[in-house]
Amino acid sequence: MTGKPAGIPDPTTLIRAEVRGLTAYQVDAADPATLRAKLDANESPFALGDHVRSELAAELATALADVELHRYPDPQARELRRLLAAELGISADQVLATNGSDEGIQILLQAVAGPGEAMAIPVPTFAMYELGARVLGLRVVAVPLDPVYDLDPARFRAALRAERPRLVFLAWPNNPTARLYQRGAVEEILQACGGEDCEALVVVDEAYVHYSGQSLLDRLEEHPHLVILRTLSKVGLAGIRLGMIVAHPAVLAELNKVRLPYNVNALSQAAARVVLRHPEVVRQHAATIVGERERVLHALRRLPGVAVFPSGANFFLMRAEQRGEAVWRALVARGVLVRNFSRAPHLADCLRVTIGAPGENDLFLQALGAILAGGG
Ligand code: PMP
Repeated sequence: MTGKPAGIPDPTTLIRAEVRGLTAYQVDAADPATLRAKLDANESPFALGDHVRSELAAELATALADVELHRYPDPQARELRRLLAAELGISADQVLATNGSDEGIQILLQAVAGPGEAMAIPVPTFAMYELGARVLGLRVVAVPLDPVYDLDPARFRAALRAERPRLVFLAWPNNPTARLYQRGAVEEILQACGGEDCEALVVVDEAYVHYSGQSLLDRLEEHPHLVILRTLSKVGLAGIRLGMIVAHPAVLAELNKVRLPYNVNALSQAAARVVLRHPEVVRQHAATIVGERERVLHALRRLPGVAVFPSGANFFLMRAEQRGEAVWRALVARGVLVRNFSRAPHLADCLRVTIGAPGENDLFLQALGAILAGGG
């Protein structure tokens, strides 16, 4: 700390050493003056309601005007949970609404954290699992994915048997690699955590389900230790912060004790209720993005100098051998912001690119083509 008056102890030393040793979740700031394509945060490029915009806007305005801002929101988010459950074809007592799925991750970690307890993840994966676990002092069992970022069930299971975690996170598709592991591999791990290799809650994080078309929702009845995370962040509502934990009612009743009261604010509940009445808008946008993903991946596979990994999400991972950082800088210089993982563990020279609107994707392809051809 700088500027501290002499003789007063440094208050940051009161913060736990584990926390001081961490690096905060980082997001590269975009410069709005030069930004032409924002492809760094896996958001949807479409402001919800491109097609039914005025109708949605009017409905939203009415819904928001009705919100009693001087009152606390519904603490159980009952109407919202009813709508979320109806959309998923499950019952409302299988859904817990959260402040983004990030909060769902935190609730699960808090509920499981205890002296000596472990949490297992394949790596690389979404940073918040490990960050949240370390804050709580959980042991992190990190099992490397194979060289093309696929899940090796045998290797993962060996770690389960050796380390006996109580919690496993599988992002499906994974972030930042975008790979959709074989359903059989995920099911094998789920099965193994039901007593064969260890006893653990298996959290299948389906943040990108709208782009993968695959879900384990149909396995909930059979496997009470399965927990599914969902979010509205990737389908046009990142700004309202709404996620959900889907699980067996008995598990949710326990998790609910950890949740802060009023965790989803009244404005977000109202906005989500309106949008949930228009699932066709979400589906249309997702279909457009999946079409764009295939177009961009096809174009990239013909470009020399980059390796592209398969994607089941609204983004993909690519590697520019020996020059990941340089390519990232050259893209930024052309107003195209993608996520730079080139110096992250297991991700040497890798960049993660979100699928944007068609014009943004064209800009990206043109910029990358020029950079790789030497005009960087
Ligand atoms: N899980 C995964 C796999 C993600 O990629 C993200 C977003 N980066 C999240 C969870 C968090 O999403 P939310 O905005 O719902 O907190």
